[in-house]
Amino acid sequence: MDFQNILEKQREFFNSQKTKNVKFRKMYLKKLRDALVNNEQELYRAIFEDFGKSKFDTYTTEISFVLKDIDYYLKNINSLSKPKKVSTNLANQFGSSKIYSDPLGCTLVIGAWNYPYQLSLSPMVTAIAAGNTCILKPSEVSENTAKAMSKIITDVFPPEYVSLIEGGVEETTELLKLKFDKIFFTGSTKVGKIVYEAAAKNLTPVTLELGGKSPAIVSSTADFDVAAKRIVWGKFINAGQTCVAPDYILVDEKVKDSFLDTLKSYIQKFEYTAESPQYTQIINIRNFERLVKMIDQDKIFVGGNSDAAKRFIEPTILHNVTWDDAVMKEEIFGPILPVLTFNNFNEALRMIAEQEKPLSAYLFTKDSDEIENFVNKISFGGGCINDVVMHLSNDNLPFGGVGNSGIGSYHGKYGFQTFSHQKSVLDRATWGEPDLKYPPYTEDKLNWIKKLL
Ligand code: NAD
Repeated sequence: MDFQNILEKQREFFNSQKTKNVKFRKMYLKKLRDALVNNEQELYRAIFEDFGKSKFDTYTTEISFVLKDIDYYLKNINSLSKPKKVSTNLANQFGSSKIYSDPLGCTLVIGAWNYPYQLSLSPMVTAIAAGNTCILKPSEVSENTAKAMSKIITDVFPPEYVSLIEGGVEETTELLKLKFDKIFFTGSTKVGKIVYEAAAKNLTPVTLELGGKSPAIVSSTADFDVAAKRIVWGKFINAGQTCVAPDYILVDEKVKDSFLDTLKSYIQKFEYTAESPQYTQIINIRNFERLVKMIDQDKIFVGGNSDAAKRFIEPTILHNVTWDDAVMKEEIFGPILPVLTFNNFNEALRMIAEQEKPLSAYLFTKDSDEIENFVNKISFGGGCINDVVMHLSNDNLPFGGVGNSGIGSYHGKYGFQTFSHQKSVLDRATWGEPDLKYPPYTEDKLNWIKKLL
């Protein structure tokens, strides 16, 4: 496929100014909304074929997210795209100052496979809400969902406005050679670096939504029942293939045993079996094998069984884990939950601070000093107190990583800003200007300027 040609057509379309029109953007957002609703069953079928994800999970963690984003922008595009008047300083009187949310132009969105609809369509929706064109490249790993999205995008959008390109490394490498005005990438830190390097050649701004090892601290003061229930849900939804899932637990040594028992009781209660609708498959055999290798048979507290034919790995909790174990050397991205312990709270924070900055961090506690220290002393993309994962569902919070877990953020108005340039314009009156700044310079003028500035 001639990607250069698609991009040139998109640039021509962008230059026609059509996407600047807010009514035009809304019309296409509505068309996309209708298409998603009309194709809901097909979206369920495709994702089930890719990795056995249930309708319930697909609706709650994917389709509802995209619909919510569309509704948010339909409601807020007018105010978000309206120029913002700001005050004008004395040196620029008489004048007025405004910030324009200017669409960046032609954007490239590269998606990941683990929430294939949400992670491809939500950034794309945001890109077009902000007035850009978009080339969307979903992950080839979840190939059925990529095909389902391709059909919808082709039906809804003219290719010079939004185009979906299927493909993997080869196609993405070709796309990254082109000069976009913005690249929005979701995926691993390793590939994020490749994208960043390619973007640098054209000085293209990037947003990188990456991963990492997100900790969950359980203090001795925590409500164990709530902590265990929420951690088990957030870890094993999508079989642990969630960028913001708690990767490992740091629990106070004093309460470790009773907390582990509570975790186990919830795993049993939630009935995560190969056949149950509340559990998904591991995406492919490569990841299945990578994960199985991480399970140290001597450290299994619960779970540990797997079935390659069904790409099923039981929810597995490992205890007596140390930082030297294989499971602590990389992002797990699967249903394995290692538990480490600490003796005092600052030690837990120190352990987190010694690792790369995580995408998320979670703290379960009733102690306000611990909350204060957790929030202020360690760096992480975002997180929750007494919950996991749910911060990303609040559109009023920017979602993104820091350091190794990413650059930039999106969701709600932050997404709109991510896909816009803040263009500053000073509009000056042609009258009423003192002659102070113009030559010839005199002592008198300087004294006046000193007073004014
Ligand atoms: P990945 O980095 O392997 O792939 C992401 C995308 O990059 C895919 O579209 C793929 O086709 C493309 N790609 C892969 N190799 C490439 C290469 N060499 N050159 C150019 N493009 C290439 O990631 P993944 O396996 O799809 O997703 C898992 C990772 O993504 C995890 O690290 C996870 O934490 C992270 N993630 C982050 C978020 C977030 O919002 N921050 C969300 C989901 C997943």
